[in-house]
Amino acid sequence: MTILFLDQSGELGGAELCLLDILCHSSATGDSLLANAQVALFSDGPFRERLARANIEHHLVGDLLPPRRDRSMLRRRLCETVSLIRSVQGILRLAKDCELLYANTPKAMVVGAIVQRLTGLPLVYHLHDILSEQHFGRWEYRFLIRLARACATRVIVNSQASQKAFVSAGGQPEQTTLIYNGFLPEQFSIDTATTADLKQKLGIRSDRFTIGCFSRFAPWKGQSLLLEALAILEDPSIELLLVGDALFGEGDYGLKLRQKTAALGLEGQVQFLGFREDVPQLLSTCDLIVHSPRAPEPFGRVMVEGMLAGKPVIAPQEGSAPELLRHGETGWLIPPRDSQLLAQAIERLQADSSLRLRLGQTAAVDAAKRFHLHHTNHQISELCQPLCHQSAPKLKRMTPPPPFAPP
Ligand code: UDP
Repeated sequence: MTILFLDQSGELGGAELCLLDILCHSSATGDSLLANAQVALFSDGPFRERLARANIEHHLVGDLLPPRRDRSMLRRRLCETVSLIRSVQGILRLAKDCELLYANTPKAMVVGAIVQRLTGLPLVYHLHDILSEQHFGRWEYRFLIRLARACATRVIVNSQASQKAFVSAGGQPEQTTLIYNGFLPEQFSIDTATTADLKQKLGIRSDRFTIGCFSRFAPWKGQSLLLEALAILEDPSIELLLVGDALFGEGDYGLKLRQKTAALGLEGQVQFLGFREDVPQLLSTCDLIVHSPRAPEPFGRVMVEGMLAGKPVIAPQEGSAPELLRHGETGWLIPPRDSQLLAQAIERLQADSSLRLRLGQTAAVDAAKRFHLHHTNHQISELCQPLCHQSAPKLKRMTPPPPFAPP
């Protein structure tokens, strides 16, 4: 039995990192269903390289890169349509040998829904987003909900927050199953020598209070709010590591963050580290993790990663954060979008090292119990297994169409 995972992105966003965790450790978690999976990608990039490194069978089909903005609307729409047709054709060829389609991103859901209609295969939509106008366009999220209603057998929601948004926008609650992202806790236990070495490489002095912010650069991820809070604190002993990069065409936001850092006079306190693959090691160098998105988070992997690293995490009192951590016990929740209150929370935790230690230690134990990859993989296998058995044999008899040649 094979599951065909569909993903639109070549970049390493949260959805792709979640899928990598699911697939890379499927043998260790004993999930043969996931161990035999294939991945179809619609664009090339570091995600494909990581799949290749992990020896996971993958195929590049079509190319759903955003069309160039300098082209006319008509040309852009034409390019989009051509690449959509190519992706559908590519998936149809691969779907011959699979029992279940698994869409991991919104555009993958669109392609998956078309293929589902053509083949009758069951389709699972793993929803990593809050489907709302704030996160998507005015019509896009409604369209996705309709597709899910019409074509998805099950919708995996990554938090109660994304489940609530899905249902309030018209999605069917009985279609959804809540499965949190899973992690391997041992990956976050870093020996002191490695931490000391990395601190030295980064030039972090021992008398500095180090805050880590790990998110891709996008305006809604709120790095600018954290810079504002830092400026309010006027404390040169605080050092901020901004870890991440613009992954989905928000390059100008990275530039704006650098300009803002300079304008606020924070250049000596902020390090831009770019996109890194050594997140657990970097987490270990921090005294405090701040996640301050300006919009509700659907999941926010870094909050759990910070907890697993035994660090106190400041997060907003909305979206998924209140599900992941409990205020004063396993983290620190504050009202969202308020740089003044964020500054106060940082000051409070900076001043109290025993509070930080207690929060971090309790968080690590709690996160290891609640967000273990073994549990996540087991839940996904249990959800997919019966669907694979029901799968229609219709497709096996279909001859896939020849590759589409654009006019
Ligand atoms: N991350 C990473 N390298 C970086 C910055 C972030 O590997 O330089 C990871 C981070 O550890 C987390 C993920 O990117 O696992 C982001 O997760 P999130 O849930 O915020 O997903 P997104 O909204 O970015 O898709």
